[in-house]
Amino acid sequence: MNIELIMAKENAFSLKFDTDWQYAPAPESSDHVEIKARYDLFIGGKFVQPNSKKYFNSINPATEAIVCEIAEANEQDVDDAVKAARKAFPAWTKIGGKERGKYLFRIARLIQERAREFSVIESIDGGKPIRESRDIDIPLAAAHFFYYAGWADKLEYAFPNRKVEPLGVAGQIIPWNFPLLMAAWKIAPALACGNCVVLKPAETTSVTAMKLAELIKDAGLPDGVVNIVTGAGKTGAAIVNHKDVNKIAFTGSTQVGKSIQKSIAGTGKKTTLELGGKAANIIFEDAPIDQAVEGVINGIFFNQGHVCCAGSRLFVQESVKDEVIQKLKIRLETLILGDPMDKNTDIGAINSKEQLKTITDYIKIGEQEGFEKFQANVAIPKKGYFCAPTLFLDVAQSSRLAQEEIFGPVLAIQTFRTVDEAIEKANNTPYGLSAGVWTDKGSKAFNMAAQLKAGVIWANTFNKFDPTSPFGGFKESGFGREGGMHGLAAYLKVS
Ligand code: NAP
Ligand code: MG
Repeated sequence: MNIELIMAKENAFSLKFDTDWQYAPAPESSDHVEIKARYDLFIGGKFVQPNSKKYFNSINPATEAIVCEIAEANEQDVDDAVKAARKAFPAWTKIGGKERGKYLFRIARLIQERAREFSVIESIDGGKPIRESRDIDIPLAAAHFFYYAGWADKLEYAFPNRKVEPLGVAGQIIPWNFPLLMAAWKIAPALACGNCVVLKPAETTSVTAMKLAELIKDAGLPDGVVNIVTGAGKTGAAIVNHKDVNKIAFTGSTQVGKSIQKSIAGTGKKTTLELGGKAANIIFEDAPIDQAVEGVINGIFFNQGHVCCAGSRLFVQESVKDEVIQKLKIRLETLILGDPMDKNTDIGAINSKEQLKTITDYIKIGEQEGFEKFQANVAIPKKGYFCAPTLFLDVAQSSRLAQEEIFGPVLAIQTFRTVDEAIEKANNTPYGLSAGVWTDKGSKAFNMAAQLKAGVIWANTFNKFDPTSPFGGFKESGFGREGGMHGLAAYLKVS
């Protein structure tokens, strides 16, 4: 009986895992997992100590134990990394797309071979459920390398009758919510287009980026084509301000994105900014309600809600409000919160103590604003950073819960009567990254897609990613696209 229940639950959740990212049958992944006590910087194909000799701890957010030490790169280290990239650039461009593609294929294949190790480390260092690391983050990271490997020798077909040239050195700065995946999103298209890169992972989740550096070395990539420098915001700022960087690709908060835009104004550096979001997930009365409820759960609780495109605002048509809310509450009670390493866990640890405080502050704001709160009745582990999945009902459009990005497992629920009201409310935020529409009518889905001001719109699904599909935002969610053919334009001079 118990087993049947677990199976049914897993089937329900498998809605979001029916992916076809395996470009070829994946090889058997090795069982070996190695985390070194200390990671140095990866510059010019070598692991080097930081000039400052300073290191900081990476923490397992589910246990608060120290995972390892990470090097802190200063301006001098960043300069070394940029010089190494610059030095590698002419030869890397010259070998041509066909050869570059072979390296990318090799990296993709090696990620598959070490998928288990990467998944385990991603969950230990970042707190996400192992099922998500295993089924989403790591296979999708490999898929990005496979996908852009295929483009490397076909760039002239992507831009017919145009001349395409690489930009030079790309500075890439990524956040902590999808550490390896964001590194893949950045590195794969840049290399396919013939650029060299200097990448900085987020402070709390650098380990898989350093494992990727080891893998890149094993793949035999020429020295200096990829350089990885770890550190805090200052390290990122040193990349942004370096005069010999031709392109800044940033994924992170709107606040830092704005400051980056100011810093590089007038420098001629090309930029893409992938910033925050506050996506509307809209359920119409004609939607398949059970499927929609599952999509809402996936939309906001996937990766603890640490997702830029999370469906953090639910708009439900008034005629089905009671049914949807009741089903959501029942489903919330079945979610398993706890050890990210347990494959039955649905909701893992919040990435850091700071982020947990941000989320709990927003929950207090919701309470003070007087909205009805519903939290799943789950035991919160004594150690580690955890937050119960939370709903707020009948949230006012002007409230901070409806307007600001929380980046945690907190859903603000609102209602609407007409299509126009749904569009008006959904578009009424500073952001415009993604949206979801649940309806039985194709025409309604297309009409909504045309009118919603968001870069990605899902119909009868949510949080579905694919390397062939461009991703990016409007308004304060940033500009430029990553993924798909559009993702190539961000790393090329097309004339
Ligand atoms: P963040 O604070 O903006 O940090 C992002 C990255 O920038 C980190 O590596 C960070 O280093 C670095 N950084 C901090 N200050 C900097 C500065 N002044 N100059 C250059 N780099 C600097 O964002 P986060 O808290 O890590 O990530 C959460 C945010 O990212 C959310 O708003 C989310 O919506 C957004 N996000 C967007 C997308 C998208 O595709 N649109 C995807 C994922 C996440 P530290 O690690 O040391 O802070
Ligand atoms: Mg960590």
